[in-house]
Amino acid sequence: MSILARLDGTLVMVGFGSIGKGALPLILRHIDIPRDRMVIIDPDPSGRAIAEFAGIRFHCVALRPDTLRAELAPLLGPGGFLVNLSVEVSSVALIALCRELGALYLDTCIEPPPGGYTDPAKSISERSNYAMRESALALKREAADPTAVIAHGANPGLVSHLVKRALLHLARDLGGPADRAKPPASREAWAALARDLGVKGIHIAERDTQRARIPKQQGEFVNTWSIEGFLSEGRQPAELGWGTHEKALPPEGARHEFGSQAAIYLRRPGAATRVRSWTPQAGPIQGYLITHNEAISIADYLTLRQDGQVVYRPTCHYAYHPCDDAILSLHELQGLALHPQPKFRLMNEEIVDGIDELGVLLYGHARGAYWYGSQLSIAEARALAPYQNATALQVTAAVLAGMVWAIENPARGVVEADEIDHERAMAVMEPYLGPLVGAYTDWTPLSGRDGLFPEDIDPEDPWQFRNVIVR
Ligand code: NAD
Repeated sequence: MSILARLDGTLVMVGFGSIGKGALPLILRHIDIPRDRMVIIDPDPSGRAIAEFAGIRFHCVALRPDTLRAELAPLLGPGGFLVNLSVEVSSVALIALCRELGALYLDTCIEPPPGGYTDPAKSISERSNYAMRESALALKREAADPTAVIAHGANPGLVSHLVKRALLHLARDLGGPADRAKPPASREAWAALARDLGVKGIHIAERDTQRARIPKQQGEFVNTWSIEGFLSEGRQPAELGWGTHEKALPPEGARHEFGSQAAIYLRRPGAATRVRSWTPQAGPIQGYLITHNEAISIADYLTLRQDGQVVYRPTCHYAYHPCDDAILSLHELQGLALHPQPKFRLMNEEIVDGIDELGVLLYGHARGAYWYGSQLSIAEARALAPYQNATALQVTAAVLAGMVWAIENPARGVVEADEIDHERAMAVMEPYLGPLVGAYTDWTPLSGRDGLFPEDIDPEDPWQFRNVIVR
């Protein structure tokens, strides 16, 4: 496989869990860097054998706010790269340090400092991804180098690039002016394209069907990626980019008192909030409205303003149907008032079959809804790269793409996936995503609701969020 980029400084990977272990073989395959210039930092010694087998130094320590500088400054300098794949090691603190040291930075989620997800002293708004995104964007306004790619995994990350491809597919299929299917050259032009195509909103619609030969046990949370990460975001408020076609805020909805105003939050956790959506293989699903950076960044990126007033924005949110054992885990978690089970199990070798069907559903236009995404199976993932399941490979391919882009564009300051050349990123990721499928559907959130019981629906506009949320 080909080398895609060369790194001249040291590569430091913080966090060597499911995503770190999966990213390593892709980095070794595609990024030219001597192994004696790589360091992995993780307090969990279970990754040591893999790291040392690969000839990479493993530093078994937990980074803390007061030790970040002492641990990292001796390792990083100009030409270096810090890849943050940990949980609760502050992204903002690491970006600021990397900027000072002249090193590149990437994460897959804007991580708060320890305790940041569940600090009872903070308001719901302060515990939101919206607030975490604003804290990272504040650094963006301060300087323009070195490059820090934030929130570049599968989602957030890959899905922003899928949205752009899907918009171009829609432009091709819906007709209109001849030049409409050409890639727009600016953020405003992408937003104008989405508006002109009549896109009311976007679901990040995911159905994970991976199944293990070991069933979930009572008192155990089982998932296909970080359980700590999932629990953290599941206990944050449900959040969504709030589109201009929406007629009214949901009863539990609230606006933030600061920032871009691209999103709202609900006064309830994502792990207890379900929404209706659709994926090609699964058909209609009910997923969880788990808060994610992309729900806010995509809505913000596709916002059009005239004379300072917002005239167009799509609604955007995650609709996550995790694997069946994770659904059972969530159900049990709800019984425990969202206090985690004593045991966690991240499914890997024991998976026997299934796919992670992860894509974007663009809805409300003349053809109804269009889903575009990856249908990566566990079998194909295993054939493509070691140490990971289908879910992780969708993420680690995006880690690789973000790193390659950062090395190629080393002085761009803080950037989100939406600001990266989507075709360059897709070219790096595509060999690892399995079948990339586009499918139209006439399904809407009102489909099949036969009126046997009274429901709070808007029959005039199927795509109102009021019809999407499960009450
Ligand atoms: P994981 O729980 O498997 O691994 C996290 C690792 O971080 C663990 O090995 C842990 O020991 C280590 N860690 C914890 N505290 C640390 C500290 N103080 N210093 C150094 N290391 C520390 O999680 P994962 O599935 O590998 O996910 C890693 C990150 O990627 C999380 O932030 C998660 O939210 C994110 N993620 C993003 C996506 C996406 O698509 N964008 C998908 C999956 C995971």
